[in-house]
Amino acid sequence: MTVVEQEIPRAARPRATGILARARPDILELKAYVSARSLAPTGRVRLDANESPWSADPDHDLNRYPQPQDGRLVAAFAETYRVDAAQLLLTRGSDEAIDLLMRAFCVAGQDAIVTLPPTFGYYATSAAVQGVRVIERPRSAASGFWLDVAATVAAARDARVKLVFICNPGNPAGEMIGADSIIEIADALRDHALVVVDEAYVEFADQASLSIDVRDRDNLAVLRTMSKAHALAGARVGALIAAPPVIALLRRIMAPYPLPVPSIEAALAALTLGRRAATRGRIELLRYERERLSDALKACRAVHEVFPAHANFVTFRVHSAVAAYAALLAQEILVRDVSGQPGLENCLRATVGTPAETDALIRALSDLS
Ligand code: PMP
Repeated sequence: MTVVEQEIPRAARPRATGILARARPDILELKAYVSARSLAPTGRVRLDANESPWSADPDHDLNRYPQPQDGRLVAAFAETYRVDAAQLLLTRGSDEAIDLLMRAFCVAGQDAIVTLPPTFGYYATSAAVQGVRVIERPRSAASGFWLDVAATVAAARDARVKLVFICNPGNPAGEMIGADSIIEIADALRDHALVVVDEAYVEFADQASLSIDVRDRDNLAVLRTMSKAHALAGARVGALIAAPPVIALLRRIMAPYPLPVPSIEAALAALTLGRRAATRGRIELLRYERERLSDALKACRAVHEVFPAHANFVTFRVHSAVAAYAALLAQEILVRDVSGQPGLENCLRATVGTPAETDALIRALSDLS
């Protein structure tokens, strides 16, 4: 008899408590799909997953499915982010973690999330795909995108709100919200909403990650990614740090084999000692270049305002974002027009590139009036 992927019967589960009680009831009851590789990770004669016995790639065993959550990479992340393995979920970039949280917690056509524009656009896109309402609490540029804790908590107290997304450092404005404010929001929303702190750019900031604070709060989650500071955007590797019951819930709705083998290998290599030192070096250089770019932008006639930058990009206001974007594009220099976001009218966002790329951007902008 061949053993293939199968569904295991639903076990009697204890009643969900804490923030888990706010997850979708049907997801809490879901029969998890069990993949062959999660039943038996290794074996001498592997005939359980309908794989090819031969590899088409002479250098890699790509004929075999990966572990659903590669133990070596979970351990490397646990060490890097100083959390327990049970608090970690490896994801295809943080984009996947956003989708998983949306699907696990929000009932379509009924539930809502809170966002704090200007903010990362994918929270709203993911919500729209799931049929979830977005309650926006915009912050003003004049206040430095200050976060009003009381107003955020009040908005999130809506009975239908399940998730609050806080991008920190913020994309696209580059601001940094103090850790105390975020903790205050999470504590005020205990047992009601999961506060998701997107730390895609935290390695470039002066402030430490909130990963450690997840230990004491089941309604705080942190998104990390290898796409930015670790220079692995093409590998699509990220991680969600959350309370173990939240991680366990998401594992049950996740596709069976989320991370490709080459991506797991690339991420493992990037977290070896030597490569970590190289990453720190790149971060230092990018932080230095970020200040150089900010200063040069302030000296440009065409630039009216430069926002304090805590990530690997600088956001600035010009007379006409459309005209400046076009002028840069004419020189094959790509930046992002972020004017559509509240408080960022006529603003462009430029990633900090190599020193030569920064020089090219500064030269092109200096020529504008
Ligand atoms: N969060 C923020 C704030 C981002 O800017 C991005 C990428 N632009 C992501 C998440 C997605 O990152 P990943 O590559 O890990 O999916």
